[in-house]
Amino acid sequence: MNVLKFGGTSVGSPERIKGVAELITSDKQRKIVVLSAMSGTTNTLVEIADYYRKRNLESANSVINRLRNLYMQHMQELYTDDNLREETKQVIDDIFTFLHSFSAKDWDETYEKAILAQGELMSTNMMRNYLREKGIKVQLISAFDYMRIDENGEPMLRPISEYWKPLLKDDKDTQIYLTQGFICLNPAGEIDNLQRGGSDYTACLIGAALKLKEIQIWTDIDGMHNNDPRFVENTRPVRQLNFEEAAELAYFGAKILHPTCIQPARYAGVPVRLLNTMQPEAPGTLINNEMQEGNIKAIAAKDNITAIKIVSSRMLLATGFLRKIFEIFEQYKTSIDMVTTSEVGVSLSIDNTSRLDPILEALRECGTVEVDNDMCIICVVGDLKSYNTGFEAMATDALSQIPIRMISYGGSNHNISFLIKKEYKEQALKSLSQKIFPTA
Ligand code: ADP
Ligand code: ASP
Ligand code: MG
Repeated sequence: MNVLKFGGTSVGSPERIKGVAELITSDKQRKIVVLSAMSGTTNTLVEIADYYRKRNLESANSVINRLRNLYMQHMQELYTDDNLREETKQVIDDIFTFLHSFSAKDWDETYEKAILAQGELMSTNMMRNYLREKGIKVQLISAFDYMRIDENGEPMLRPISEYWKPLLKDDKDTQIYLTQGFICLNPAGEIDNLQRGGSDYTACLIGAALKLKEIQIWTDIDGMHNNDPRFVENTRPVRQLNFEEAAELAYFGAKILHPTCIQPARYAGVPVRLLNTMQPEAPGTLINNEMQEGNIKAIAAKDNITAIKIVSSRMLLATGFLRKIFEIFEQYKTSIDMVTTSEVGVSLSIDNTSRLDPILEALRECGTVEVDNDMCIICVVGDLKSYNTGFEAMATDALSQIPIRMISYGGSNHNISFLIKKEYKEQALKSLSQKIFPTA
């Protein structure tokens, strides 16, 4: 059995919803289908939550009404069966009543997650009833029944297998199990989520927990490209990636995959395939355990990075200096992306600045601290084992015109990373592509 995830653009219009319905029912195989919200919806819900937070009820109201009108138009286009259309309209209307209900309440930060969850609840209800209209045996499974995160925000595999395994064993009648990506419950039993882009993570978690045959991520492009197509022309799809290469590309900014979604698939050994909904016959990208020796596969960039340099007040680093520094980041639950050290200090980078002030205050006890905001990590991924000579030279050569703040190499066999100012990002991506993947 496979799990198939369809992203926002794949279900972005009634036309696209019909296309996905066609695609998932073209064979008679039982499958689990994970859906995102229709494209644009989650961003609109973020906007609504922001207006409520600022007590701008008038703007919240008008954005909700605009979104409601759009969904009512979708209802008209999606269904031919009047009863099913009315039934779906009722579900969607209840969701809009829920969105309006916050105007009567004092804002509480937990409301945002509940508001953001509504996009996936709408898309899955719409798809379910469209499949029913087509006579398909479909079950809508609520993500709140099996997707949980722990106190550290980490998703848990056990509730997934405990919920799904008996269901799949006992019920042989259902063809499509439909469920929401992205949304979950936290330990307090409140609505939460797996972070933006989290539907990929839902699919990978289900695939890993149930040890399925394959996890398929269906999106609007024919697989992982060798560079970011939003900034570089003539990028090409990469046919195969090792789990570690894919995990690094996702973590270091390849938007096609949620940053941490590959980890569960890798531990469970379940292959992941990236496919294009608009071009289903294209081969896409296969992510598995194989390693193609001696190849550079792709380049990615991660934005919003802050670099911190701590220079020790002593001439040489005292024993325990690094431990003290890392403990400060651990205490404030902030993970470090890149690190370089010298005999007098350490430079590191973080992407979560929510606890930056107390971190800097604590670091200043250890030495002189310098901070650079608006940085970006450029990451070159492939088989970069130390006996493969020349790759680092090629990458640094491509960046010879760009000031580099930090370089990290050797931490893994798959990546070399450069920290540069954000303003050089596009130039860096383009010149790396020209050097490493020349088109002519
Ligand atoms: P979905 O809504 O299906 O989850 P996303 O927008 O999250 O889709 O991801 C697909 C997009 O990722 C592509 O349209 C492309 O612009 C962007 N992207 C960024 N880097 C890459 C890459 N290396 N390969 C393919 N797509 C990439
Ligand atoms: N709808 C969510 C988002 O826009 C989750 C996803 O699309 O994967 O972030
Ligand atoms: Mg996505």
